[in-house]
Amino acid sequence: MKKNSVLLIALFISSWHIADTSPHIVTGEEYSYTPLQDKPNQKNSRKGVTKILLEDEAVTLLQAYLQVDTISPPGNESRAVDFLAKIFDKEGISYESADSAPGRGNIWARLEGGDKPALILLHHSDVVPANEEYWDFDPLSGEIVDGYIQGRGALDMKGLGIAHLANFLKLHRSNKELNRDVIFIAAADEESGGKYGMGWLVENRPEAFEGAALLLNEGGSGFRSKDGIVFSIEVTQKIPVWLRLTSVDEPGHGSSPRTTSSVSRIVEALNIIWNSPFEPRIIPEVDRVFSDRSEGLEEPFRSKYKDIKNMIQDPVFMKELQEFSPSSHALTRNTCSLTRMSGGVKINVVPPTAWAEIDCRILPDNKPEEFIKKIEDLIKDTGVEVEPLMLGFPGSSPTNSELYLAIENYISTNYPDSKLSPSVSTGFTDSRFSRGIGIASYGFNTYIYEGNESSGIHGNNERIHEDRYRQSVSDLSLILEKVIYD
Ligand SMILES: [Zn+2]
Repeated sequence: MKKNSVLLIALFISSWHIADTSPHIVTGEEYSYTPLQDKPNQKNSRKGVTKILLEDEAVTLLQAYLQVDTISPPGNESRAVDFLAKIFDKEGISYESADSAPGRGNIWARLEGGDKPALILLHHSDVVPANEEYWDFDPLSGEIVDGYIQGRGALDMKGLGIAHLANFLKLHRSNKELNRDVIFIAAADEESGGKYGMGWLVENRPEAFEGAALLLNEGGSGFRSKDGIVFSIEVTQKIPVWLRLTSVDEPGHGSSPRTTSSVSRIVEALNIIWNSPFEPRIIPEVDRVFSDRSEGLEEPFRSKYKDIKNMIQDPVFMKELQEFSPSSHALTRNTCSLTRMSGGVKINVVPPTAWAEIDCRILPDNKPEEFIKKIEDLIKDTGVEVEPLMLGFPGSSPTNSELYLAIENYISTNYPDSKLSPSVSTGFTDSRFSRGIGIASYGFNTYIYEGNESSGIHGNNERIHEDRYRQSVSDLSLILEKVIYD
């Protein structure tokens, strides 16, 4: 551990102890938590002191949270629940928690406020694996080195989770009347689809979402380039429809092929899907994305992006677009990637069954059930069966809600030269579950990325810049104030 981080911890939270010996398996039980006190300081205004305390607390909490091993698989998010529960206990904040399966813990807490619809601060507590062989530091260290807080989850998304938490604690301590309830949720299993996290909570603990209409989650952020800062707020996303195709046919000897086999049926079905691109169609949110993206482009793509509604009729352009930017192209239509397949176990045996899995993503206003019907119709002559493995929910969040407008207002006032755009994600987050139950959900983090640091997300050497993280925590605080105080 570097000296500066030791000093910081010693200064502000003397009783936190950050484990510095391996193995780094921290369960949350090991922490003793002492809340920070908002003491006046001659050098700073009251507001300044609060800001420093908020940021210091977030940094220290993040260092500790990064040490809690919630790498998924297997997840062990109950360790995160223990970690957070201990903090809520000390603060006198009541909370509830529930395991969706052994070790797969979820926790939520609510600050009571006025009658306006509640606001949820949502993050996922699991992180993806880190292959230490390719890392320059211990992925579970939480150390601060060269101005960066290091560890798996610093960016995705324990950093934002702790920004939520530090602000949640601040609201609780301030005793100022809130105009609405504020709900903090740490959900398990986002990285593997959310079945044990938000998917489970929505089904089994609907009370956690009671009265909520607004939600903040991961998905958008700031980015500083040589042309200035661009902020994006994710308002909708493609809906995942993961399908398994299975075929059954007569088995036999490889030397004597029949006219069809389980494997030939699967190959034929995949061939039909691959060669039947779905109709392109531009939804209003995507039109806006193309218009925003056009500004950073050279001709001829610049004009073509601006005119995307008409350009999708041109198959030559659509091919060019897919080559130029697969992720932009994916916003224009439903897509299926062929990702897994398997047949027999021996080269000279025709197997009785074969299967394939396809990763389809459909536009946010489509219904998964209708899409599956289309696939079934498309391949019905092959005799291949279609079984859904995972389905998302349709849903888009409006750009005129109180939360969206508060973010927009804060950014335009405090970052006047920046640009803010609503975005559509080709990937998915837990927001699909909350949008599915009618909560306007926004993927937005006030953190401003620089250079290629986002490569640490699911990649090697994940870390977050301490000073910019501090700023993001304070920026979030000021955005929240616009939404929760009258
Ligand atoms: Zn994430």
